[in-house]
Amino acid sequence: MAEYDYDLFVIGAGSGGVRAARLAANMGLKVGVAEEDRPGGTCVLRGCVPKKFMVYASEVPSNIDYARGFGWDVQLGDFNWHQFKTHNQAEVTRLSGIYGSNLARAGAELIPCHAGFKDEHTLILTQGGATREVTAKTILIATGGWPFLPQHCPGVLEHALTSNDMFELPELPKKMVIVGGGYIAVEFAGIMNGLGVEVTLMYRGEKILRGFDSDVRDHLTAEMKLRGITILTGVDPIKLHTEGDDTILHLNNGETFTTGKVMYASGRKPKTEGLNLDVLDIKVDVHGAIPVDAFSRTAVPHIFAIGDVTNRVNLTPVAIREAVAFVETALKDNPVAYDHGNIPTAVFSQPEIGTVGLSEDDAKAKGIVYDVYQTRFRPMKTAFVGGESRTFMKLIVEAESDIVIGCHIVGNDSGEMIQLAGIAVKARLTKAQWDATCAVHPTAAEELVTIKDKRL
Ligand code: FAD
Ligand code: NDP
Repeated sequence: MAEYDYDLFVIGAGSGGVRAARLAANMGLKVGVAEEDRPGGTCVLRGCVPKKFMVYASEVPSNIDYARGFGWDVQLGDFNWHQFKTHNQAEVTRLSGIYGSNLARAGAELIPCHAGFKDEHTLILTQGGATREVTAKTILIATGGWPFLPQHCPGVLEHALTSNDMFELPELPKKMVIVGGGYIAVEFAGIMNGLGVEVTLMYRGEKILRGFDSDVRDHLTAEMKLRGITILTGVDPIKLHTEGDDTILHLNNGETFTTGKVMYASGRKPKTEGLNLDVLDIKVDVHGAIPVDAFSRTAVPHIFAIGDVTNRVNLTPVAIREAVAFVETALKDNPVAYDHGNIPTAVFSQPEIGTVGLSEDDAKAKGIVYDVYQTRFRPMKTAFVGGESRTFMKLIVEAESDIVIGCHIVGNDSGEMIQLAGIAVKARLTKAQWDATCAVHPTAAEELVTIKDKRL
């Protein structure tokens, strides 16, 4: 009889967990996967996928403007939120089903339950009121994250929405405030603004998108304002209450602000509640994340953790790459540490941001001597509608080696562009090699291989 019920037990059927479970099951191992929600995780159920459909829906009005500029006699009709919501949820359900069937096809057993530890090799699975215990040789924690609300602000728990709620809104509000200045705040500000909601973004700091290149932050701020979004910086709500359909925010500057709905995009916390980590030798860090080494191994050698619950780089493709490295390390005796350097990323704001490598501030902080090449130009698509909108591109080049160490784009399709520019930055190609690549004309991306002048 086998020593354990499973060779591998995965907690969480999200981006990371499903990839690890499928790869392990394909090796012929006995794999169990606990999932307390539907399979798919944040990305499929309430993240990347339904969000991107909302981005597409919200871009239609500006596409109608372009169409009119090009001579089409079209008017923007009404947006049917209920129809959109139904289609969006149907697509999410379809994809979640595929995640489930992919697990089954690989031979992994998906168990709809909450999982928590009893001891280092035993898990308690809770489904409805029933519990049972299973044992596993190796355990992978891939439980993701959950929106964080600042509980010191009275009224926030009762009256604030989070990104989870945005896909299920009963109606679109006329006005809304979005609190925060990170990925989710700027993405939903663009979405709701495009869908016709009057949006105010409130950010406690001086400049949105902390951690991004400073010019990118300034450029996006200006572009969001051009599109009609109000951005208030240096303000933080200290209390929320409702009066009828209105929500009233009491701000730290003594003022009050009345709006329809309030969404908090104030970050996410690793999801560890109910895992019973205290029965193990695993202590979460100050952010609530499970500490792991470069191989995603926790303090207990046969227990690993990947994805958002480890709070390294909280992106779907990163959780998937960590899963692949975990399988190599833990199940194939081939230790692989996923390299978190130079990860390209897109923010689906309007316009989009695509970025990879060091920001100018990062380069400065590391004491690197660098040159900056940058350009700002009118996107061709807007030529017939006019306006002040511009695309921004910036390359940061290490002076001594000529290697491009940072590439930052704000403009249409920059998410697509940065996927490819990411190859060149990851491969540490030189500016001369970028320049030796023939331009594709007429595109925005051609600017990346034709910027000649250093910024003085
Ligand atoms: P998850 O995908 O969150 O999966 C964890 C799973 O574990 C969940 O299904 C959960 O129900 C389950 N679970 C938790 N605890 C237990 C338990 N005790 N027992 C059983 N099951 C449990 N990333 C991008 O790369 N691009 C984007 O455009 C993007 N957009 C995003 C938009 C939003 C609004 C949000 C919130 C996130 C977005 N992300 C995006 C981030 C991305 O969704 C996450 O980085 C990714 O889903 C993390 O994968 P994971 O496997 O770590 O966790
Ligand atoms: P972020 O960490 O990106 O941003 C959180 C924001 O909330 C920051 O502006 C932060 O301010 C602010 N904040 C934190 N605490 C408080 C508080 N107590 N009161 C008011 N504001 C506060 O988190 P998000 O929730 O936007 O997104 C989570 C992660 O999900 C992202 O970091 C990213 O990894 C991933 N994601 C990726 C996407 C993509 O790939 N396109 C899209 C969406 C999410 P400050 O800067 O001052 O700390």
